[in-house]
Amino acid sequence: MSAVLLDGRGLAGTLRASARARASALFALRGRPPGIGVLLVSDDPAVVAYARGKAKAAAAVGIAHIAVRLPVDSDTSTVLAALVALQADPKVDGVIVELPLPPNVDATRVLAVIDPAKDADGAHPVSLGRLAFGLPGPRPATPAAVVALLEAAGTQLAGAQAVVVGRSRTVGLPAALMLLARDATVSICHSRTRDMAALARTADVLVVAAGVPELIGPEAVKPGATVVDVGTNWLPEPRADDPSAGRLVGDVAFDAVRAVAGRLTPVPGGVGPVTTATLLLSVVALAEANAASSNAGAPHR
Ligand code: NAD
Repeated sequence: MSAVLLDGRGLAGTLRASARARASALFALRGRPPGIGVLLVSDDPAVVAYARGKAKAAAAVGIAHIAVRLPVDSDTSTVLAALVALQADPKVDGVIVELPLPPNVDATRVLAVIDPAKDADGAHPVSLGRLAFGLPGPRPATPAAVVALLEAAGTQLAGAQAVVVGRSRTVGLPAALMLLARDATVSICHSRTRDMAALARTADVLVVAAGVPELIGPEAVKPGATVVDVGTNWLPEPRADDPSAGRLVGDVAFDAVRAVAGRLTPVPGGVGPVTTATLLLSVVALAEANAASSNAGAPHR
């Protein structure tokens, strides 16, 4: 068997087209584009490159990008003050804090200060609570992208056995909640799970978000399963002509698992582009809600 690849780039193109059309309608309505505010406190080349990619993607669909970058040795109160100022900017409809923050910054305190009405990446505790309660609200972009890829491929989720590897607040935990909300039977594996391969092998749908290169081999995959690889790991492979050369790999041993799985997302070209497109759509949705509430408050003419 050779798994069918789930095409993240194709789906991302469709989502971006929708974001572009809705951004343009908002521009016509308000005379200004939807705006995303991005707070970056990192020198990590992967985080910086990811933030740059988002800026480019936002510009391409007509979303204004307002970036604030702080030195990595900034303390928590400096980061909090910058975030409060950024989200108070009326041009900002949705705000994101690039993660991970440096160890000297208390990420939990920072995320708790995000205005839930501008929480583009569904990172505030209220947004995660709304997800847990099944209430509408902004959703974390990466797990939303996982579900979008699964649904676009027509994956049966109701009644399916789903296993999520990873329990982070940004990916694993909300991915499990979203699958549960679609009536899958969900198990979560993490770094303390015993015999993860045996549990993973029960999955009709296996979502892997651990950040460990090639953690999942064919022995952990049920034949015919749908496997979504969220991992993005940069393996440096310096060459004489390019000391910064390397390659991006997922958490799934791609070639070996492709021979067993029914469907599989590639890295790169799977979850990554859909995550960015989903985030842009989230900003547009927040801007639409913002426009609707300003309209509701306006005097009738
Ligand atoms: P994280 O480090 O916050 O969490 C990793 C999780 O994996 C933890 O819950 C940990 O318990 C679990 N884990 C670690 N080692 C394990 C092991 N050996 N067995 C089982 N579980 C294990 O990471 P994160 O922010 O959730 O991101 C996970 C991966 O997804 C990373 O590679 C990250 O770069 C990637 N990511 C990709 C996108 C995208 O758009 N493609 C977005 C966000 C994160």
